[in-house]
Amino acid sequence: EGRSIVFASGKGGTGKTTTVANLGVALAQFGKEVILLDADITMANLSLVLGMEDIPITLHDVLAGEADLKDAIYEGPAGVKVIPGGLSLEKIKKAKPERLRQLIREIGQMADFVLIDAPAGLEMTSVTALLIGKELIIVTNPEISAITDSLKTKLIAEKLGTLPLGAILNRVTNEKTELTQEEIEAILEVPVLAMIPEDPEVKRASAYGVPLVIKNPTSPAAIAIKQLAAKLAGIR
Ligand code: ADP
Ligand code: MG
Repeated sequence: EGRSIVFASGKGGTGKTTTVANLGVALAQFGKEVILLDADITMANLSLVLGMEDIPITLHDVLAGEADLKDAIYEGPAGVKVIPGGLSLEKIKKAKPERLRQLIREIGQMADFVLIDAPAGLEMTSVTALLIGKELIIVTNPEISAITDSLKTKLIAEKLGTLPLGAILNRVTNEKTELTQEEIEAILEVPVLAMIPEDPEVKRASAYGVPLVIKNPTSPAAIAIKQLAAKLAGIR
């Protein structure tokens, strides 16, 4: 069984979707089997960042017994696989928790890495996403408000039995107002796994619908993400 890692934050817009999409592609480029699970119903934009259109069958259709799991798995760039999750509250309530757990186990057996793009905040759907992964990576910006919100997410994940691996600092500018890596590690009590710089190429790539690590693999943000992928894949 592969690793399942949920990417979460307190605040929205910290870069979860960007990170999951590009990390997934980078891991696939290293030869890993990767499944990305889009668990953000309100902002289901993972497939857009990957340039994929028309992915109508979601995990919910599978949960509802209306589709097979294989029908909800779509192939993206570099062979990365994407499952539209769409954890809507209404549908989650209807689904049997045991069926969801069984499905997650099945998905975990199909890949080396299952990366889960979680919704922001601590609503029911966000907490459900935290439950789906065995491990947690916090995606945060190096600002105090983002960090304190991320701390809440981390504490809830721990309570649920999801292991916090560390934090990714995204949109780092090295301005004086930013917290330092040491300060952030002291607050969150997890290691900083990567520092992804503010990089205008991120938005350009997403406007093209091509993942940054493919569109511009030598841009600063792409390099930071590929280094993280190498770390996670055990390549040094
Ligand atoms: P989330 O999924 O956490 O809501 P996104 O990945 O959608 O966040 O990113 C939010 C916005 O920030 C997007 O417009 C994205 O293009 C931009 N962004 C993310 N990371 C960077 C970065 N390192 N440099 C510049 N812009 C970024
Ligand atoms: Mg997102």
